[in-house]
Amino acid sequence: MARYVFITGGVVSSLGKGLASAALGALLQARGFSVRLRKLDPYLNVDPGTMSPFEHGEVFVTDDGAETDLDLGHYERFTGVAARRTDSVSSGRIYSNVLEKERRGDYLGKTIQVIPHVTNEIKDFLRIGEAEVDFMLCEIGGTVGDIEGLPFFEAIRQFAQERPRGQCIFMHLTLLPYIAASGELKTKPTQHSVKELRAIGIAPDVLLLRSEHPIPDKEREKIALFCNVRKDAVIAAPDLGTIYEAPLAYHREGLDQAVLDAFGISPAPRPNLARWEDVMDRLTHAEGEVRVAIVGKYTQLEDAYKSIAEALTHGGMANRTRVRAEWIDAEIFEREDPAPWLESFHAILVPGGFGERGTEGKIAAARFAREKKIPYLGICLGMQMAVIEAARNLVGLANAGSEEFDDEAGPRRFTPVVYHLKEWVQGNHKVERRKDDAKGGTMRLGAYTAYLAPGSRVAQVYGDTVIEERHRHRYEVDIRYREGLESCGLMFSGLSPDGRLPEIVEVADHPWFIGVQFHPELKSKPFAPHPLFADFIRAAVETSRLV
Ligand code: GLN
Repeated sequence: MARYVFITGGVVSSLGKGLASAALGALLQARGFSVRLRKLDPYLNVDPGTMSPFEHGEVFVTDDGAETDLDLGHYERFTGVAARRTDSVSSGRIYSNVLEKERRGDYLGKTIQVIPHVTNEIKDFLRIGEAEVDFMLCEIGGTVGDIEGLPFFEAIRQFAQERPRGQCIFMHLTLLPYIAASGELKTKPTQHSVKELRAIGIAPDVLLLRSEHPIPDKEREKIALFCNVRKDAVIAAPDLGTIYEAPLAYHREGLDQAVLDAFGISPAPRPNLARWEDVMDRLTHAEGEVRVAIVGKYTQLEDAYKSIAEALTHGGMANRTRVRAEWIDAEIFEREDPAPWLESFHAILVPGGFGERGTEGKIAAARFAREKKIPYLGICLGMQMAVIEAARNLVGLANAGSEEFDDEAGPRRFTPVVYHLKEWVQGNHKVERRKDDAKGGTMRLGAYTAYLAPGSRVAQVYGDTVIEERHRHRYEVDIRYREGLESCGLMFSGLSPDGRLPEIVEVADHPWFIGVQFHPELKSKPFAPHPLFADFIRAAVETSRLV
């Protein structure tokens, strides 16, 4: 049976609870334990799939096709453990399960209540797969005291109570604000936050404290005393230069030791931190810098493309170079010539996106990259834009476009070289969709296999001709345009196993121009950079040497 670490937050949000959880996972792995990380989100959406990236940042997709919170991306990047559908749940999902059971009559006429029915549903979720790992790390979204988070706090309290002693611990992350005028770190908000936790029956075993300054011994003692936590379980979470420093920094502060002590695991296995030392070595001993333009729509919020930003950093690490990513609003290129904006970049990336707004600008960016021979990586919508660009400007289909931008019932503005896919094969069953389907969970989601053309650039990059990558899209490039596009030099170098769905396109006569229908960024890790990002940055380094 797994041991459980419940990670909660207090005082304010955005303290990096997801990151702290992920770093703890990495540290437990470094001590030889197997881990799985989970996120429990109090919001009422059934999953974040229907939320705008402005609301909740990127939607992270798992191999088994779940649309989840971006914290699952951190978990994967720090532990290398592929997340599953059952690693993420929201109040919306929990309530919808409970209501479904109620409608089916599963509760045999009982009155359905938050306690025990909702809390039982949460506890059932917590138990999934518990036999598989040594440690299950469960992060509760939001902060203690939020009304909608209460059922989750109550459920983890019950859960720990029902388990044998010493099998569950609680870790609480809070903020120690620094008051410059008096030069002091203030402990009161933390005291209040712990008080709030204890009022609902949860006594934290480990406190992780975000602070801009080192925590003096005196403050540490005070927190230990007032919060009823052992002094060596009061851990500082200092501000870091890069997120990847977290495992080593938290280890230095004694986080993993405090957690193992709280479980009474003694003697604690010695940690092997070589993986994280190498990661830090690559980050701190980088030579030179390449500049990558990301031409997208959700540019005001960096979290909207979290995994892409991280994958680019990993690509830099693979080449021991720094990557400076700059976000440019695609709509600018609908009014202005892209040349003055894009000329100075060593590579251009067009990420995924939804809807028509900004697409003409992305097409202009793809054209600029193709014609000026600047390395180009198009991801999902970014591949579709590259195909539309080639169809218009190489094949001569002046009004080439995507069905996504036309009302299917009304008059067509575009010749759809990208169309709404209504039927496909997943594993050994057929999936069917209609235009008026509900929006949630109906895209082509999760891992699909692609076959790569032997001798193509992508086959060379992957060092393989069979790959599996994660998808999240509704529209597909129409295979019927293959011949026309290939005769103009846009090669279909990756296809679905049945040969119907274009997965990758590349421009033959170009230093590096690749469009992929999937999201390679979701599988990149600092200790295992994704081959496409590693090679994209290698090409960017080459471009930087030419100028
Ligand atoms: N909007 C496009 C589609 O649904 C692309 C999606 C994406 O970029 N993730 O096919």
